[in-house]
Amino acid sequence: MADISMTDRCDCGATAGPLGLCVDYYHGILAEEQSDPQMFRWHAPVVVTYLLQHPSEAHEKYLDDQFRQLQLYVDQGLDALLRLAAHSVARNNHRARRGYDMAPLAAYAPLPKGEPPGFSASFSGLPFKDGSFVFDGHLAYGDRIKAIAEATVESWTSVQS
Ligand SMILES: [Zn+2]
Repeated sequence: MADISMTDRCDCGATAGPLGLCVDYYHGILAEEQSDPQMFRWHAPVVVTYLLQHPSEAHEKYLDDQFRQLQLYVDQGLDALLRLAAHSVARNNHRARRGYDMAPLAAYAPLPKGEPPGFSASFSGLPFKDGSFVFDGHLAYGDRIKAIAEATVESWTSVQS
């Protein structure tokens, strides 16, 4: 039988692309960004977007925080997210007992309980040409990551708690 097998469809609802499922794209990005500092700027949004689209692969206790980080990124942009990360690291080093600084994230909605209804943009839909995800430049790549992040926030936001 030539039915579409389970392996052609990802947990997040996306169909496989030429490289495989989302996890194959995710690992491909993580590998490529290791040798490309400019591409690595999008590391945090890539990770939290991937985990929020595939929550069974995430640590549940961090997901709420990650959902807020993603909202901040969609709302305020990459520089704001990078500043938050740098600030949190510095603060944790300086005052370990105080823990993570949630103040900038407190304005954003908590992660709803429930299942998101699928996403309008997915990792397995990312174009990959000439052995690269940044074949047409870093800003174009960043725009594609932003679009997946926006689709992720939109879908989770539609879940009724
Ligand atoms: Zn997926």
